[in-house]
Amino acid sequence: MGASRLTGRAGFAHHDRMNDPSGTSADTVIRRCAALIPRDGALVLEDCDIVVRGGLIAGIAAPGEGEAARIVEGGNRLAAPGLVNAHTHSPLNVLRGTADGMDHVGFMWTNQADTAGRGEEEIAISATLGALDMLRSGVTAAIDHYPEQNCAAADVGPLARAYAGIGMRAAIALRVFDMEYDDIDPAYVDGVDISVDRDLGDNPLEPLAADEIAAVCEEAVDRWHGHGELISIMPGPSNPVRCSDAMLVRCHEIAAARDLGIHTHLLETRIQRTLARERFGRTMVAQLDALGILDRRWSMAHTVWVDDDDIALLADRESVVVHNPHSNSKIGAGVAPVARMLAKGVPVALGTDGASTNDTLSIHEAMSLALLLPRISGVPRADWPGPAAAFDMATRGGAAAFPSGPRLGAIEAGAAADLVLYDLDAPSLAPLNDPLQQLVFAERGRGVRTVLVAGEVVYEDGRFASADADAAIRTAREMRESQKDRNRALYRFAEALEAAQEGAAGR
Ligand SMILES: [Zn+2]
Repeated sequence: MGASRLTGRAGFAHHDRMNDPSGTSADTVIRRCAALIPRDGALVLEDCDIVVRGGLIAGIAAPGEGEAARIVEGGNRLAAPGLVNAHTHSPLNVLRGTADGMDHVGFMWTNQADTAGRGEEEIAISATLGALDMLRSGVTAAIDHYPEQNCAAADVGPLARAYAGIGMRAAIALRVFDMEYDDIDPAYVDGVDISVDRDLGDNPLEPLAADEIAAVCEEAVDRWHGHGELISIMPGPSNPVRCSDAMLVRCHEIAAARDLGIHTHLLETRIQRTLARERFGRTMVAQLDALGILDRRWSMAHTVWVDDDDIALLADRESVVVHNPHSNSKIGAGVAPVARMLAKGVPVALGTDGASTNDTLSIHEAMSLALLLPRISGVPRADWPGPAAAFDMATRGGAAAFPSGPRLGAIEAGAAADLVLYDLDAPSLAPLNDPLQQLVFAERGRGVRTVLVAGEVVYEDGRFASADADAAIRTAREMRESQKDRNRALYRFAEALEAAQEGAAGR
């Protein structure tokens, strides 16, 4: 009996071939699971054993035929590739429930007050909290655009160790900039020059010289790229409007020389589009292309304010757009033209952005919202992306944004054994009418029972394999109090700015 393709309501199909080619003993077999397998551009539902060896999927075996030292019982479980969160910021993981009602400018300055001057323990605790939340909701890999200020070499170790300790795959995109953040200058807010006392104390958004930035990137890659076989490093220019052309080219050279990705924010807000046009007389996407650096190494968070020519260019250069539907909605940044991007063949991944503009780190939620936004923003029904597109963005799209290491977002020989087992008795999945629609529209993570990253079980039935989990939650509460005691000048500035914005808006 062959496998069934998901073209509507899907039934189970039994796999009819053993496909564990090497014959050497496996580490782990997920036995007799239903598996949602991306294959040849379609999704296939199979009843099978998934064979894992050396952190990779070794193959798919007929149900009950896989042999290994460790058996994970897959009965009544739906296995799927781990989801990829292709844009988040770990420093914001302790800031859920803050920053509501703010626009991008207000949010960014409040964010500086909350995150500037963190120590090693805070860095690690924030990252661990986010990793716990992501893993338990089926996210096995994340791009952490980090930190909220210019990245220093010493900032990277605590973060890399935190992800590796909890067992989550992470790409650390080193956030760097050599120009001012003009896009959040109060002069530009709502087109009104708002007069605010600019005493920031130490400005946390002080630019660094391009040479210093290159040195930080080189050192971090040398020391931490490949750490624990879970961590990758890449340059992460904060936003091209906050970076000189020379610095962007330099970061791209580092990425190309070492075969890394390169990550950035791009055209999240309308003012960023205006700044690019003023400076270059062309769009930011066209400017990156004119520099000769627009290519498939890039993953670009947001990409809201693009025109059709930009979209054609992004498709042609295979640059990955990371859509963050929840964050864009929460701060009113705009609606990215994702339906048009997908139609033109732009690779699109999904991200949550930081936990103060979301406030979840749920890619299940991002999948759902990515499908809903086009439907309420005038996209004709014939062009609505569907659940297969959402699942593809969260898996294969995320894999395209993920720069190094084994292939993600797939269940096939040679891909990373990053797998999520959902409980088929969970309310979201029982009865199983259409696994894809239900994973996208119904499931929010409560059905996740077992999570493997690089072949290791890191989460099962509400418990994490790492002992760091409980301690992180306890420490986070204390940490938040001490954060509020520092950066007082920044808090004053952020509050004055918020009040001035409200005044200017006549609220
Ligand atoms: Zn972001």
